Amino acid sequence: MERTFVMIKPDGVQRNLIGKIISRFEDKGYRIVAMKLMQVTRDLAERHYEEHRGKPFFESLIDYITSGPVVVMVLEGKDVVAGVRKMNGATNPAEAAPGTIRGDYALDIGRNVIHGADSVESAQREISIYFKEEELLNYEKVTEKWIYEYE
Ligand code: UDP
Repeated sequence: MERTFVMIKPDGVQRNLIGKIISRFEDKGYRIVAMKLMQVTRDLAERHYEEHRGKPFFESLIDYITSGPVVVMVLEGKDVVAGVRKMNGATNPAEAAPGTIRGDYALDIGRNVIHGADSVESAQREISIYFKEEELLNYEKVTEKWIYEYE
């Protein structure tokens, strides 16, 4: 089963959106495999976003991600990487469709509320940055036979 890495960014936490955002992913049928509230250090943020090092927005992105607590989670489900990216909406909230998280809750690219890994490889890399192997839980949910035709 595919896994992805998701972060509710500091603005999402400050704006009381944790519950609403988690509910969207639960309602869709994804399983939460790991989750925690944490303060991201600059070192961690720079590792997470190393592909953007040197870009004009890099320093402000690191300031933003380290500006307050975030919620990080690992979600599991069928095609979850692409599914979460669709639910998050376009990076720039001005271009994000209504009904997406950024489309519904954000206005500014530098305050876009949510992060989701952009590929299976990025997800694996990001999960290993934020979580220890033993924090990823294996469990069954009784609803899954009503979510998947074939288990
Ligand atoms: N970002 C920004 N200005 C930009 C581009 C990106 O502030 O011009 C921030 C924004 O928070 C975005 C993050 O950098 O979510 C990472 O950018 P990426 O292109 O990887 O977008 P994402 O994968 O988050 O949609």
